[in-house]
Amino acid sequence: MNEQKVNDWLASRKQLRENRNAVSLFEALRSGNRTALSSSITLLESSLEKDREIATAIIRLCLPFSGNSVRIGITGVPGVGKSSFIERFGMELIHEGKRIAVLAIDPTSERTGGSILGDKTRMQQLSQEENAFIRPSAAGNTLGGVARKTRETIILCEAAGYDTILVETVGVGQSETMVHSMVDFFLLLLLAGAGDELQGIKRGIMEMADGLAVTKADGENDQRAKLAQRELKNAIHLFPPTASGWIPEVHTCSSVTGERIDAVRNMIHRFEEHAKIKGSFLQNRKDQDRNWMHETLRSLLLEGLYLNPAIHQRTLEMEEAVRQGNISAFEAAEFIYDLYKKQ
Ligand code: GDP
Repeated sequence: MNEQKVNDWLASRKQLRENRNAVSLFEALRSGNRTALSSSITLLESSLEKDREIATAIIRLCLPFSGNSVRIGITGVPGVGKSSFIERFGMELIHEGKRIAVLAIDPTSERTGGSILGDKTRMQQLSQEENAFIRPSAAGNTLGGVARKTRETIILCEAAGYDTILVETVGVGQSETMVHSMVDFFLLLLLAGAGDELQGIKRGIMEMADGLAVTKADGENDQRAKLAQRELKNAIHLFPPTASGWIPEVHTCSSVTGERIDAVRNMIHRFEEHAKIKGSFLQNRKDQDRNWMHETLRSLLLEGLYLNPAIHQRTLEMEEAVRQGNISAFEAAEFIYDLYKKQ
């Protein structure tokens, strides 16, 4: 055999092995084996190319079995009560016979190495449940990278039979948009403040929400929560209507007493029914997939551009030339782009 043939043969053996790994993990995952699900997620989070290849094969196998769930995004500032809410809400769903997966997108983990959402003591009760799968935020260099892994994780969880996917994120910026782009229902948790409900939450995020819940509505705080609810209802009236005609609802709830957690759950049920009747449920998912294709393409192009050593070198030179005023920023960018096209 010549060298090329040997290499081809080795490659096909490797492919076979990877396929075998993928198929056996997929089969175990489908039969409800949580370790197989965890291992598959670890593979897709890996930076090793061979792991990613197996993960891609598993995702391909899982795709026909995915999609049959409600994907709920949950956001709010640190301390608003996200994990307490998910614990209570999740337990109620489990009692209803649901199987839930809790995933997290944590924009702080990449910067600080630590993580607001990664705390092991969170959701203690839920984490003991057979029908709950909790996965902390994926590691990654960029929020886009983390988002991609989370989207892929959703597919795996759905194929593994989880019918309710909760994607949690800290309300501190970009990550809400990211989560909004991968869920069916977007829930914003808010704290009741003395008349300052609208502060600290960007209007854009309020507009993205399909539902709002004022948390910690118990004890002395209950009245304040109700006041905040009224103010929020008024504020929401001023927002433009959504395409499906759904009007976001505002509720109060307490994760400590468990009161009105069911109101939030019922709101999500109502939304699901409404969106399915109107056809916006599937349409939204299709739009999300299309956007995601473009998003992935953009990041691949950027990676191709910035990770190419030759182009990187020229980019540094161009930066310097722009700084010196020898070339305009526009012209320098065009020069680099031309170089990229010729590659
Ligand atoms: P997260 O940072 O948004 O995940 O918030 P946590 O769930 O960790 O809650 C922050 C703090 O608020 C904790 O001390 C909780 O015990 C408290 N907390 C959460 N939900 C409630 C609630 O419904 N009522 C009351 N009184 N306290 C709550």
